[in-house]
Amino acid sequence: MILAILEISKNALSEASWEVLTAARDLAQKTNSSVAALLVGKGAQALASTLKGVGAVLVADDQRLDSFIPDAFAQIVSSAIAQKSPKIVIAPGTETGNDLMARVAARLNLGLATNCTEFVVENGALKRVTRSNWGGSLLEEVEILSSPILLTLQPHAIPAQMSDGHTPTVEALPVALSEKDFRVRMKELIPSEKKGISLTDAKVVIGGGRGMGSAEAFKMLEELASLLHNAAVGATRVATNNGWRPHSDQIGQTGAQIAPDLYIACGISGAIQHMVGCKNSKKILAINKDPEAPIFQRADYGVIGDLHQVVPALVAELKRLKGV
Ligand SMILES: Cc1cc2nc3c(=O)[nH]c(=O)nc-3n(C[C@H](O)[C@H](O)[C@H](O)COP(=O)(O)OP(=O)(O)OC[C@H]3O[C@@H](n4cnc5c(N)ncnc54)[C@H](O)[C@@H]3O)c2cc1C
Repeated sequence: MILAILEISKNALSEASWEVLTAARDLAQKTNSSVAALLVGKGAQALASTLKGVGAVLVADDQRLDSFIPDAFAQIVSSAIAQKSPKIVIAPGTETGNDLMARVAARLNLGLATNCTEFVVENGALKRVTRSNWGGSLLEEVEILSSPILLTLQPHAIPAQMSDGHTPTVEALPVALSEKDFRVRMKELIPSEKKGISLTDAKVVIGGGRGMGSAEAFKMLEELASLLHNAAVGATRVATNNGWRPHSDQIGQTGAQIAPDLYIACGISGAIQHMVGCKNSKKILAINKDPEAPIFQRADYGVIGDLHQVVPALVAELKRLKGV
């Protein structure tokens, strides 16, 4: 059995969880195995009935699990492994998913490969995985010798595919939690001040770098975003360090990992630490006045020119097309 650990975010399954389910189904097919999903958290029971295409859904629903509580979640996953003896356990390679699985690996004295991007199955068994390191600048091939194999899946490594397969059985997982399991817990969640579409959900992201020159100049990127469907504005570290944009807008190794249909990079050189955050974009359009800028080697489309002329021209043309 492949055990897929899913994450609940805002009373729904996170995008990364759908990707994990897709990977688990693929692994199950190649290893002639079945998939069970584990849903942990307040409201898990209600979400379980929405899942399709897995054999079973294990549920640990508890009023106290209203946020990620590291020890309690690790206790539940460890207990599920002990009760169900899966061959492979796969969780989202998000901050919480990696935190959780590291705790599970330590508790059970097992190996763990985090942020996996590819899986090699030979003779019906998972032999090797490729994992992404240092923000994607190093890919590592790993063979895990301990059993069960613990993995996390790099977000956006594979596209999520919905399944309209059969409705699974839902089973409450008996787990005993003690006070000790709740010694680390979240006291307060302070939402980002940013309103509108998030960088990770946007279908079009417009990034601004040093070439923007000022916080004021980002207004034209906001205007461009408002004319496009499902678009958001992001930035490089130079722009956030200069105080032109909040840190939450940063894309890259130490910022958000985005995967939009289109990334429009304005006045951005294309440093590796930035590119690892946008490399999963389906298309990249770079606007840069330097024809030698490294970003042109990664871009699908390029405009060599001053963004302070190119972006207003784009805005004007979109307004003309939309009649606004
Ligand atoms: C450990 C570490 C982590 C890091 N993490 C991140 C991260 O998460 N995200 C990140 O972005 N960076 C990160 N960095 C920084 C990264 O190395 C680069 O310094 C940064 O991405 C460069 O930002 P930039 O492209 O805006 O600036 P620059 O590299 O200075 O490039 C500016 C570009 O704008 C162009 N330009 C200038 N004026 C105009 C104009 N008028 N019209 C058109 N083009 C113009 C220039 O030709 C140039 O190509 C990290 C660095 C380190 C060491």
